[in-house]
Amino acid sequence: MIEIRLHGRGGQGAVTASRIIATAAYEEGKYSQAIPMYGTERRGAPLTAFVRIDDVRVRERELVHNPEISIVLDPLIAKQQAVVNQLKPGGLVILNTAYPPEAVKIGGDFNVATVDATTIALETLGRPITNTAILGAFAKVTGLLKVESIEKAIKKFFPGRLGDMNIAAVKRSYDEVKGPIQAVVKEAPEQKVDIHVGGYGVLKDVSSWRVFTPEIDVDKCIGCKTCWIFCPETAIQWDEEKNKPWIRFEACKGCGLCANECPVNAIKMVRVEV
Ligand code: SF4
Ligand code: SF4
Repeated sequence: MIEIRLHGRGGQGAVTASRIIATAAYEEGKYSQAIPMYGTERRGAPLTAFVRIDDVRVRERELVHNPEISIVLDPLIAKQQAVVNQLKPGGLVILNTAYPPEAVKIGGDFNVATVDATTIALETLGRPITNTAILGAFAKVTGLLKVESIEKAIKKFFPGRLGDMNIAAVKRSYDEVKGPIQAVVKEAPEQKVDIHVGGYGVLKDVSSWRVFTPEIDVDKCIGCKTCWIFCPETAIQWDEEKNKPWIRFEACKGCGLCANECPVNAIKMVRVEV
């Protein structure tokens, strides 16, 4: 049996990715299982999903504790989740990052592959939904499933043009993945957060969730307070003296609602350098 763990954030499609992998395995005549794990999470909150694939009926029902493969859909989630925690010796981690595997700082007895899934998603889907933009890499470096089976499964979840766009993301990640190589760093990282602890809704510093960050042009701002009202994280604060907003960046998850709602386009979302 092969066990896989996926790490992502609400809105990146980790749960859908787990279901696509399980469906693709089923398409190839295997037995499979997809298990999501989240609580009352908000968009951007870290979450985990699991997949099991076997040639015989899968009878286990608990969470995956010792995966062979860890798929990481977000470049900064390793700050909050122990993404290589209890990975089997000689296992594989597939990371969404623009860096090559040689530059990856998390270490241990496992192999590392990398793909810039955020850029692929932005360029093929127009949104940082990285699930399908990492699945091509998964198919290529694991050889577990044919990329055609992943594409067939995607068609079931996303019919029509959306399916075509997601398949384009799969093809690019298949072509652009780097590695796998043995992890360059040998020491295991300090495990700060147990992946099996749920309830991320209370996290105070959510700055690492951002793919885009808001920038306010105070000269354009007319002081209407729309952004202040709409921000779901109360990250927008009000300067009464100047009658202008300012952003408490540790509370901003980069959802872009403020920019969408601003009536004079005084807020623009700028991609975060990782
Ligand atoms: S992007 Fe704007 S609306 Fe979203 S959390 Fe940040 S400040 Fe609030
Ligand atoms: S919504 Fe735009 S114009 Fe209104 S306060 Fe916010 S930044 Fe200023």
